[in-house]
Amino acid sequence: MTITQRLTERFLSENTTTVCAIEHKLKYQLLEEFKTSEPELCFALLPLAASLAHVPLSGFSVGAIVKGLSGTLYFGANMEFSESAIGQTIHAEQAAFNNAWMNGETGISDIFVSASPCGHCRQFLNEITTSKELNVWVKGKPGSKLTSLLPEDFGPQDLGVHTALMANKSTEGHSELESALSRSYSPYTHSPSAVVLTMKDGTQYAGAYAENAAFNPSLPPLQSALIMCLLHGNQLADVSDVLLTENKGNKVKHGQITKLLCSVILPNATFHQVEDFK
Ligand SMILES: [Zn+2]
Repeated sequence: MTITQRLTERFLSENTTTVCAIEHKLKYQLLEEFKTSEPELCFALLPLAASLAHVPLSGFSVGAIVKGLSGTLYFGANMEFSESAIGQTIHAEQAAFNNAWMNGETGISDIFVSASPCGHCRQFLNEITTSKELNVWVKGKPGSKLTSLLPEDFGPQDLGVHTALMANKSTEGHSELESALSRSYSPYTHSPSAVVLTMKDGTQYAGAYAENAAFNPSLPPLQSALIMCLLHGNQLADVSDVLLTENKGNKVKHGQITKLLCSVILPNATFHQVEDFK
């Protein structure tokens, strides 16, 4: 039996909830149990991450795993949405990053993927706090640095920005919306924004806007929240409410497009918006 088969059996038999992260301590137990290296463990876990994909357009599931600075491993998978523009698609690397970010990580040290990240993801990852040290591990190849995969990069430094994605500390002890809004990163347009999805059973998933120096690879707040919702094994039909917040004075506004996208992909959800949320 391969490590992947043993891991699948273990997680499917021991957990009733979907596994989308493996904490530091459990990771060391698994490394000991399977007598393997961290990259090999992560490559063996990639099919489990890929099983969380939502791919009604391509039918092609992709998994990615990132290691946060705490040592915890976070799963990600690609996500597509029927009957909406293809640009709304989320790549597995973005989903894994977002999982770490929404769980309070302030950087990622490593990313594990089955094929080399596309140009969009290289540009996206170039925005994070640890971009200059980030190790990219592609199955079957030696590890490399993001900096070697993105030579002559265009990034925050070219626009005089000296902060980075994942640097914003979350407001602890407040609502999910406030916590997500405090993480939102928009140093180019100063337009923070966040979304909270509420499920039929009351569970909430928050997401924040992550802007990029090259603009187009930015991650909208709805997508950020949808990543967390889908990685936890939910169905889009079970989202009952969508709450978006952004400021009246924001130069970038997500209200219209979020409302429209919700009406297409979240058939049972009611859209709400609050401005200047405090
Ligand atoms: Zn990509």
